[in-house]
Amino acid sequence: MSNWLQIVVAAPAHSSIAGPLTYQSELPLPVGSLVRVPLGKREVLGVVWEVLPDSGALLEMQTRHVAGALQGLPPLSATWRKLVQFTASYYQRSLGEVALAALPPQLRDLSNVQLARRLKRPMADTRGEQPGGRSLVLSAQQAAVLAEFDADTRPALLFGATGSGKTEVYLRAAARVLELDPAAQVLVMVPEINLTPQLQSRFEERFAHLGKERVVALHSGLTPAQRLKSWLAAHAGHARLVLGTRMAVFASMPNLRLIVVDEEHDPSYKQQEGARYSARDLAVYRAKIETEDATHAHGPCRVLLGSATPSLESWQATLAGRYQRLIMDERIGTVPSTGEEAAPYSAGPQPEPYSPPKAREPGDAGSLPTVRRVDMNHQPKHCIIAPPLLEAIAQRVARGEQSLIFLNRRGYAPVLACHDCGWKSECPHCSAFRVFHKIDRTLRCHHCGFTERVPRACPSCGNIDIAPVGRGTERLEEHLAELLAGVKRPDGEPVRIARIDADTTRLKGALESQLASVHAGEVDVLVGTQMIAKGHDFRHITLVAAINPDGALFSSDFRAPERLFSLLMQAGGRAGRDARHSGASEMWVQTFHPEHPLFAALKQHDYAGFAAQQLAEREAAGMSPFGFSALVRAEARTQEVAQGFLNAAAAQADALQLTGNGQVTAYPAVPMTIQRVADIERAQMLVESPSRAALQRFLANWQPVLFETRQQAEFKSLIRWAIDVDPIAI
Ligand code: ADP
Ligand code: ZN
Ligand code: ZN
Repeated sequence: MSNWLQIVVAAPAHSSIAGPLTYQSELPLPVGSLVRVPLGKREVLGVVWEVLPDSGALLEMQTRHVAGALQGLPPLSATWRKLVQFTASYYQRSLGEVALAALPPQLRDLSNVQLARRLKRPMADTRGEQPGGRSLVLSAQQAAVLAEFDADTRPALLFGATGSGKTEVYLRAAARVLELDPAAQVLVMVPEINLTPQLQSRFEERFAHLGKERVVALHSGLTPAQRLKSWLAAHAGHARLVLGTRMAVFASMPNLRLIVVDEEHDPSYKQQEGARYSARDLAVYRAKIETEDATHAHGPCRVLLGSATPSLESWQATLAGRYQRLIMDERIGTVPSTGEEAAPYSAGPQPEPYSPPKAREPGDAGSLPTVRRVDMNHQPKHCIIAPPLLEAIAQRVARGEQSLIFLNRRGYAPVLACHDCGWKSECPHCSAFRVFHKIDRTLRCHHCGFTERVPRACPSCGNIDIAPVGRGTERLEEHLAELLAGVKRPDGEPVRIARIDADTTRLKGALESQLASVHAGEVDVLVGTQMIAKGHDFRHITLVAAINPDGALFSSDFRAPERLFSLLMQAGGRAGRDARHSGASEMWVQTFHPEHPLFAALKQHDYAGFAAQQLAEREAAGMSPFGFSALVRAEARTQEVAQGFLNAAAAQADALQLTGNGQVTAYPAVPMTIQRVADIERAQMLVESPSRAALQRFLANWQPVLFETRQQAEFKSLIRWAIDVDPIAI
């Protein structure tokens, strides 16, 4: 007798296969089973989504047979399937695309024999289970926050200053979940694992006592074989803790009890192609459904978001009481410890003594660095590093302390120009300039990759005097070397300057070794992009300087100030992490707008004030988190086709009255900021609504219209279109 199954297979977003396909199987297969099925001439991986009741109609149907099940693998859980289903519908993609992208690619090509070999468990560990690494005494704030977290059930946001010891809170929260239930699993997400190799070893060390391979990593830097191995360990329940990037939110973890999202504000949690999901938002959703589905067998699943500069969405959720807010505003070591095991962290809510932070002098916010705004209007013309900043850096070098100079632009100069005829190093394929890289004398387009040798003379008038305009990290490094040439370290050696950015870290292992040399004190002045501004626990940096942060103040993107504020707070957070220096640490900001409220808030380390001001603006304008939006992007050889397609689809939505009494507004299509990339014209349309549900309904109804519009003769040449729900950049 046959079993009829609805099976989900990978389907390109815009193919005719939107939902599951019907197959038959001789053996009964439970929902969630991983199977191989024929599709066209190929055999592909699929997931059993539904078992159909026997009916006469099915007998009549020409259905193909399941080729085989992946043996030895337990089925994917109901929660996992619900998460995938939600993602597909919320982000307007096909179920098959999302489901299969959430599985490790190598699963597709394994025979059952190969799979069986992979599934062999590592040898049982013979050590007794002794919790390791318990030497740290929790700070009073850490202990208080953990107790509060335990006493609540809502999603929690840990608002913890840079250096307040958030990682230790994650470690303890995870440890407790793992101790209480020998099957429990924990997911810890971080923005970019490669940037923080420190973190992975901290987790591995802390949980080494659980036995071999109980802590696994899941991110795109792994080989396909490693990724499969981690995935299988999580799926089988063997891995107790998964440390991963945004993709890890889809890890199959049958006993998931806690999800931690570190640096929850970080833009890299938003996937920027395919299904453009927010892993942070999905983490909150996942914890909710894991809890709802927590039948008899196991307890609820909590989610803990953490940041020194939370996203305004999460912050607003704490103000509205939907999320629990946990605060740590003191840096580790700046408040004398009681010395005793003052803060044992054990089961249940504990009335930990919580003393509110003492009154502070301005600029002494828990020994965060003092912020100095340098008014560039009053500095020598064309100066790159203001003289007082240069002097401060030189003093640090002489004292054997490190400085971090931050400029969010790599390369030597963003433009090369001819002053005679006005030629500029435009990219012939993009509406952008090619960046001058001096090290190999090339002009490189950072959008399409088009690279050429720097011309000897102006390509347009022959003038040999073509010159770089503006400055990137490469030029800044060179400039600093000239300015600091006479400066000596305490050991009498000349100053050592290094640079870390995407160019210096292209080779595998390069970033790790460069970071190691900073940690080892081999570098006095470190120049770099945002790569060095985030997350690192540098111990000897006492000065951080932002050279040219003004650009983002006047961006057309309403999120630009939020991103700038958080980046500067993060960068500043690299200074004075060693309590012995924290009192004297400084964050310098060079700006032509020293009175700007953003910098005023930065000076006070006043995230809450900054957030209040931004939220008021957004509320007045109906923007996130008070309103909801989606962008529809279209690409074609001409703007006319790209914009025409979007406008035609919007007109059709109007004609069909999809916007429901004006609850949803679709604005006219406009070119994207960088309108042409690699000879492709790009346009976008903003769709807004004060109601998330109304926007969702609109998008779901509009999708088929977009598909149909694309079929019209005049839009045949459209290259692609895609919907971005809750976009993070406009
Ligand atoms: P954050 O992530 O909040 O910026 P980290 O978690 O990196 O801060 O902690 C900052 C530093 O303080 C780290 O070097 C960490 O090892 C140390 N630390 C954290 N908690 C404690 C503690 N309870 N006692 C001593 N040192 C601690
Ligand atoms: Zn010229
Ligand atoms: Zn280009």
